[in-house]
Amino acid sequence: PCTDFDMAYFHSYAHVGIHEEMIKDRVRTDTYRAAIMQHQSFIEGKVVMDVGCGTGILSIFCAQAGAKRVYAVDASDIALQANEVVKANNLAEKIIVLHGRVEDVEIDEEVDVIISEWMGYMLLYESMLGSVITARDRWLKHGGLILPSNATLYMAPITHPDRYNDSIEFWRNVYGIDMSAMLQLAKQCAFEEPCVETITGENVLTWPHVVKHVDCYTIQHDELESVSTRYKFQSMMRAPLHGFAFWFDVEFSGPTNSPTNNHIPSLLTGASNNNHIDGIQKKKRANPNEALVLSTAPEDPPTHWQQTLIYFYDPIEVEQDQIIEGSLTLSQSKENRRFMNIHLEYSSGGRSYVKESVMR
Ligand code: SAH
Repeated sequence: PCTDFDMAYFHSYAHVGIHEEMIKDRVRTDTYRAAIMQHQSFIEGKVVMDVGCGTGILSIFCAQAGAKRVYAVDASDIALQANEVVKANNLAEKIIVLHGRVEDVEIDEEVDVIISEWMGYMLLYESMLGSVITARDRWLKHGGLILPSNATLYMAPITHPDRYNDSIEFWRNVYGIDMSAMLQLAKQCAFEEPCVETITGENVLTWPHVVKHVDCYTIQHDELESVSTRYKFQSMMRAPLHGFAFWFDVEFSGPTNSPTNNHIPSLLTGASNNNHIDGIQKKKRANPNEALVLSTAPEDPPTHWQQTLIYFYDPIEVEQDQIIEGSLTLSQSKENRRFMNIHLEYSSGGRSYVKESVMR
């Protein structure tokens, strides 16, 4: 059912600003276009569905790549503009804009390709992947292509003294006045909820941990209601630990023999965070048949997703090699499934902590 929350969600996508931000994110848009071109021989002459077409940009890329027909679906009123854009580019014969939810629209054929830009902050925020699953199960032909084909969410412990000093320590001495009485409020206001900010590789204390790997061909709805993981880090340096950073990457591999299948299973290597190193190597290899990767990692060029940070109210001083461990659960909020509840447990240096937050 389409709830009031969904209405508000789709309404937010009727504004130009959000589409401008996404389209101007060249890392995002160029990688999608390059992936479409890389799969051109598959797309040529085929039927495509663009789940959440927005302004229609990905549908047009697919038409340019030779698609026979593209169903461009969006529940937001931005679909009206997409329709105008399609007409103005003489593509109305090929691209059929459907103004409705992918859960509700009807088409009377199966599709060869599903393309979607569904990723939210921390990958899963917005819960749009569920709509891609619905489209896949309703219309994708056996042997069809899904772009992107898989996604991975990572986390890593971080240090960020500048940010902490700027927002918190600042209050200790304001124009020579001791405003430490502000500290509690400042911590609460700055760090209660996750922050979307850009950090760099220098803020990261050690190799990331894979929170969740999503195979877009096989993922099921119930797997997304709640995602849990246990992690264990060993800090590579002595530093104040200020919290955790989260980021993701997505891969655009083909329907069969996807490079995903070549991942060394982490069971064999004994390290759950091996995938990330693997991911970096993959990107840097020049083989044109390698899957393209859209990465939002701190060491990669920035995107509009930036990174998502969960800060502690108080830093923990960690020594080199000190263990930081605990667990994380991300779950769709009961009040609004577009919101995400984050339950974080962490311990280091013999003390344990719990932090609950909500991404709204
Ligand atoms: N494909 C565009 C827009 C991506 S933003 C681009 O790459 O620039 C995601 C879009 O998906 C939004 O416009 C939103 O309205 C739409 N969307 C999200 N869930 C949807 C659903 N269930 N049915 C139809 N459209 C949806």
